[in-house]
Amino acid sequence: MSYEQNNNFYVCLQCLRRFTIEEAYDLDFTCPECGAILFEDNNEELINVLSMLIKNIKIKLKSISQTPIPAQ
Ligand SMILES: [Zn+2]
Repeated sequence: MSYEQNNNFYVCLQCLRRFTIEEAYDLDFTCPECGAILFEDNNEELINVLSMLIKNIKIKLKSISQTPIPAQ
């Protein structure tokens, strides 16, 4: 019996680490690396879309933080 058959993996969308459901329970569904919430990894398409969105948000945040705030 393998974990892949049950598909009971959880994934961190920030660093894309994967955890078994037992590990996820132990971690309170929070990534030990970055503190993000773990999502059930049973929908690859959704995971891909979400991780892409997060990447885009990060890029936007970076460009915002690099823009000097004009003096008012
Ligand atoms: Zn993480």
